[in-house]
Amino acid sequence: MSAGAPGSAMRATMRAMVYRGAGPALALEEWPVPAPGAGEVLIRVSACGVCRTDLHVVDGDLTEPRLPVVPGHEVVGRVAALGAGVERFREGERVGVPWLGWTCGACRYCLSGRENLCPEALFTGYTRDGGYGDYCVADERYCLPVAGARSDMHAAPLLCAGLIGHRALRMAGDAERIGLYGFGAAAHIIAQVARAEGRRVFAFVRPGDDAAIAFARGLGAAWAGPSDEAPPEELDAALLFAPVGALVPAALRAIAPGGTVVCAGIHMSEIPAFPYELLWRERRIVSVANLTREDGEAFLALAASTPIEMHVEPVALADANLALDRLRAGRLQGAAVLTMD
Ligand SMILES: [Zn+2]
Ligand SMILES: [Zn+2]
Repeated sequence: MSAGAPGSAMRATMRAMVYRGAGPALALEEWPVPAPGAGEVLIRVSACGVCRTDLHVVDGDLTEPRLPVVPGHEVVGRVAALGAGVERFREGERVGVPWLGWTCGACRYCLSGRENLCPEALFTGYTRDGGYGDYCVADERYCLPVAGARSDMHAAPLLCAGLIGHRALRMAGDAERIGLYGFGAAAHIIAQVARAEGRRVFAFVRPGDDAAIAFARGLGAAWAGPSDEAPPEELDAALLFAPVGALVPAALRAIAPGGTVVCAGIHMSEIPAFPYELLWRERRIVSVANLTREDGEAFLALAASTPIEMHVEPVALADANLALDRLRAGRLQGAAVLTMD
């Protein structure tokens, strides 16, 4: 490991919010600053977005974490040290670390442009330590350069909410009328991307959440209403960001023949039985799994040139549990982002 930049104060220990398998709270611990191995970079984290997937880790919905683990996969920071053989990045460069942390490179998925499906893949903040700490180590091949003028805090939610949201949007093809179920961090970004592409957005929120309705309308939704209400016209596709299985038949009812329901989350409650006629006439249900590096680069390039009003709520690292509680309770508008200073 090479030394930090001259004059930079690299500490021997760091703060980390740690999940040890007994949720629902993370523990603030002092850990040694990790050393980057061959091909890895050490990153001084400055911001890390709080994603619903972190909640699924902490709540035990995702059952195979490597323990103990530092969650967080919307990491933005600067390269602080280089492991042996690192070529893509220099010290001081701004980088992002997304959910996909490593793949085998040899399986049928990796060899066919579908590394998001690699059965050996490692995931940041789940099976590799992530960004809920002052430093993290990442394989340089899976880091993404973060260009553009956005602050670290405003860039962080792009790394998953934006990126996975965009993969979900692409699965909707050229659908013009897009329903977004669950208007949180991902939907608030993707609503704006979809509008910039000339699509119309219909936002479905938790019944009773009038603030979310106003939020969605403020970001240009053609219509916003509770998820138990029918939209004013048929939709061409629906993207489900809320982890609620009952929304699948609801969304099938809302889409036109040939339309697609895209389940964008990594976890969802059970989908209730529904009559075949809801699916009939070539409606489709698909899921989105993870990302490829190609997705990451394409989306960050798009985001750098698309005006996106990012709504972020800064939360101090040590208060990560509060951010998770608020996300769990649906009391966030936009994205919570942990800040390290
Ligand atoms: Zn593979
Ligand atoms: Zn995520």
